[in-house]
Amino acid sequence: SAEPDFLKVSGLHAGYGRARVLQGLDFSVARGEVCAILGPNGAGKTTTLRALSGMAGGRGSVTLDGTELLGRSPEQAARLGVAHVPEGRGTFNDLTVEENLRIGAHLRTARRWRGRAERAAVTADLERIYGHFPRLRQRSRQAAGSLSGGEQQMLAIGRALIRRPALLLLDEPSLGLAPLVTRELFEIVRAVNEEERTTVVVVEQNARLALDIAHRAHVLEAGRLVLSGPAARIREDGHIAEVYLGVP
Ligand code: ATP
Repeated sequence: SAEPDFLKVSGLHAGYGRARVLQGLDFSVARGEVCAILGPNGAGKTTTLRALSGMAGGRGSVTLDGTELLGRSPEQAARLGVAHVPEGRGTFNDLTVEENLRIGAHLRTARRWRGRAERAAVTADLERIYGHFPRLRQRSRQAAGSLSGGEQQMLAIGRALIRRPALLLLDEPSLGLAPLVTRELFEIVRAVNEEERTTVVVVEQNARLALDIAHRAHVLEAGRLVLSGPAARIREDGHIAEVYLGVP
């Protein structure tokens, strides 16, 4: 890619109080790439995503298209184009699918700019999201709380995508989902990445699945990157898969 350092993480340290979790991470994600962050429980994968979206402090540097993200609030990070879908999804159960998506859309502009043109733009964005997620269109008037786990994850990702983020952060999208719906979800993420060139960082326990859609992958252990490379190479190297990913 022409922009190999679209997201550039340098010397990133982060933790919680005295608990030091990330011990100096260095990696870059090219514009338009899907990057997978793999590794065992407690390695610091979630903390990495939180540091990228203003939800954990940190030392070092994280730049997106040249702009420093560290030290920003989650709201500021969102305004700079970072959309974070946390584990556990965080959609509003009592609101309908469409209302949840509209909330995502309206975060985009200040209230004073919401005129007819803005409403038309939101309608177009809803159509775009329903195009990616046909199941959400079918269930647009249904309460989010009544969706299946997979559909709720689709809604959370759809809501994050509605503003065309520059960087989409996905934390364990497969958590608690059946294999078939997980596969469907990952295929949608792949299609969005291909069609909209959204840069994606995905944290996953299911290494095989993440490696299927990722361009590059990083393996994190105890707060340090122990392995980085093209996803295809990691996928095909039986030794790596066995040693680092627990895949026999
Ligand atoms: P998992 O796959 O289990 O979610 P992970 O790789 O995402 O693991 P993190 O959630 O980033 O790991 O956690 C890394 C370490 O930080 C763990 O030891 C965890 O206990 C600790 N930790 C996470 N959140 C907090 C917190 N709010 N306060 C203190 N320690 C925390």
